[in-house]
Amino acid sequence: MSTYATLHNDLLRQHHRWATLGDAARLTRYEHALARVIAHTWGSCEDCGQGIDERRLQRDPTATRCWACANSPGALG
Ligand SMILES: [Zn+2]
Repeated sequence: MSTYATLHNDLLRQHHRWATLGDAARLTRYEHALARVIAHTWGSCEDCGQGIDERRLQRDPTATRCWACANSPGALG
């Protein structure tokens, strides 16, 4: 099983969990992450295109920006 397939399954599980709990904000984040996994862009920063730090992704698999971009002035997260 590829890393992406494993990741996809994990995200689907989390997605299902937030759907059950009715957490719309998290659901949206996981849906976005799932779309990025399918498009094979997951793990790349949406702003600068650099790889997002692994520890950051382990903490939050729905992160869409690298640390530098997420913490740059005016960034929305
Ligand atoms: Zn970046």
